[in-house]
Amino acid sequence: MSSRILLIEDNEQNRYLATFLLERHGYQVESAVDGAKGVQAAASHPPDIILLDIQLPQMDGHAVARALRELRALDATPIIAVTSYAMVGDREKSLAAGCDGYIEKPIDPDTFVDTIRDIVESVRSTRGRS
Ligand code: MN
Repeated sequence: MSSRILLIEDNEQNRYLATFLLERHGYQVESAVDGAKGVQAAASHPPDIILLDIQLPQMDGHAVARALRELRALDATPIIAVTSYAMVGDREKSLAAGCDGYIEKPIDPDTFVDTIRDIVESVRSTRGRS
């Protein structure tokens, strides 16, 4: 069974690239274009992994992460922030808000999926899930 990833990302090009890379590696991808829709999607159909853009309109990624962490069904679900390289403080804030790791934008097609796998593996080993 392939892992289901919820991708919360407002930028169409980034959505397209991330979806392309993930599907090529066998992941099933559902996407949401803003934080509210992302939280709704996560609540109604809990994914295995969440990729969360931090720069989102209205509800920013940190607020979204906090809302996702309120959902019991997502207690063990890795949340990976996708942050701009320039926004240095974003990473620490993302971790404080409940994310498990981060990936820098722009998305590097050569390392994107491996980085996700590394973060997911470390989360699963520390939380005792497989
Ligand atoms: Mn964005």
